[in-house]
Amino acid sequence: MTNCQDCGAPIPIDEEMPDIGDVLVCSACGAEHEVISTDPVELELIEEEK
Ligand SMILES: [Zn+2]
Repeated sequence: MTNCQDCGAPIPIDEEMPDIGDVLVCSACGAEHEVISTDPVELELIEEEK
C-alpha cells in the first residue's frame, strides 16, 4: 500500500501495475503523485507551483 505524502492517507492503486509517469490523485486531499517506480510502486508528490 502506498500512502499520500501530503496527508498520509492510503492511496488505492486501481491498476495491477501502474506505469512510470502515471499520476495518482489522493482521494482524501486531492494531492497529485507521480509514479516514479513500479516494483515496488513508489510515488512522488507533485507540488503545485503557486
Ligand atoms: Zn492526501
